[in-house]
Parts: sequence; C-alpha cells; structure tokens
Amino acid sequence: MMIEQPLAHDDIIDHASLQKRLKTPICLDESIHSLEDARKAIEMGSCGIINIKVGRVGGLTEARRIHDYCVEKEIPVWCGGMLESGIGRAHNVAITTLPGFTLPGDTAASSRYWERDLIEPEVTVTNGVIHVPEKAGIGYEPNRELIEQFTLYSETFRAS
Ligand SMILES: [Mg+2]
Repeated sequence: MMIEQPLAHDDIIDHASLQKRLKTPICLDESIHSLEDARKAIEMGSCGIINIKVGRVGGLTEARRIHDYCVEKEIPVWCGGMLESGIGRAHNVAITTLPGFTLPGDTAASSRYWERDLIEPEVTVTNGVIHVPEKAGIGYEPNRELIEQFTLYSETFRAS
C-alpha cells in the first residue's frame, strides 16, 4: 500500500526523486510538521500519502489544516500514534472521523499499551473498529483519580 518515510526526516528532495521512480506511494511521516511542510512535499511530488500525527504537527488545528489541504490535493491521509495515553488517543479517534482519513490508522485499544488508561470508558476495538463517542469535547472523561495517582509533580499557574 505504501512505503513510509524511507529516507531522512528532513529530506523532501530525495523523497521526490525516489517517488518518481516508484509506483508504490511514499508516505511521509517525520518530514511533516506543519501545513507548510505538507504543501512543499506535495508540490514537489515527494509523497502520495501523509501520516498525520496530532502530536507531531502541534495539535488539532494544524492536523485539520493538513487534512483539508490533502483532501484538496487528493492525497490520502491516515492517523499515526505516538503511544498516547487515552487523552491523546481520544483526539486521534476524533480526528480520524474527518473524510480525508481514508486509510486505516494505527490507533489501538487502550489495553494494548496500558493496564489502566486515563479515560473512561477506555478505547476499545471490536473487529478492527473503534466506536466514536458522540459526547462533546474529546468524547471520553479523564479519570482524575487515576491521573492524580500517577502524578509525580504539579504546579499551578495563574494569570497576572
Ligand atoms: Mg512512521
């Protein structure tokens, strides 16, 4: 289906040369930190697919911008994970409901990585499918008791 990030993270030029010689689409992952990176990579023909990681691109707003641009350019995207706790996982579940996420993501069940996840309910996978909660916000409740239990240090900041 694709070859993911075969060359260096900061090299969209050689990825473009390689993509020209391959039928298999190159998927860029580490090369894409922003909409600007996506635009340059796509304009140069460096990839046929992009892996959008919410954490890698700095949050949901930039992830959404990259997604919208890729839809416009007919570049399929999928959502990669960075071993998030349930809170990050919930964001991944939400963003993958956008129409450009046409390739399977690698968001797994909470139980794949955690004895107990930090959200209620935990993310579960049934026959390869994650049910998307319809509640507002991230769709899951942070388990504050568990977060407190695992917190080593905290500091409170107040606006002056
Ligand atoms: Mg990767």
